[in-house]
Amino acid sequence: MTDAPSLIQSIISCKCPKCRKGDLFVGNNPSNPKQLFEMNKSCPTCSQTFEPEPGFYFGAMFISYAFNTTLFIAVWVLYSNLTEDFSILTLLAIMGISAVVFLPLFFRWSRAIWISIFVPFEKKSQSSGSKT
Ligand SMILES: [Zn+2]
Repeated sequence: MTDAPSLIQSIISCKCPKCRKGDLFVGNNPSNPKQLFEMNKSCPTCSQTFEPEPGFYFGAMFISYAFNTTLFIAVWVLYSNLTEDFSILTLLAIMGISAVVFLPLFFRWSRAIWISIFVPFEKKSQSSGSKT
């Protein structure tokens, strides 16, 4: 019995892994590209830090790499099934465009997944708010 969102929901909506309420990222407006990659320093709700150590998100690169590989395979399968005259250049162009389109989403999701691996969920994190 909890009102907190599930792990999957909190990752998709880029919430703090500890309380699943505060936002990981500063802005949620896709029309403001500057804000898409800007993270909060710490959770506005439970004050969990979002950068435990310098270079913490280096590992998130591998998750983002997995997302892109999946995307490229999906694009390749779709394109080769939908077209009569297959062209490797067109395929590469579509892959390039889709990678740019999905970049902010993959960037956010890979960071949300990465921090969720290291920061466990705490039901009562709203009251404690411990700072280290
Ligand atoms: Zn939090």
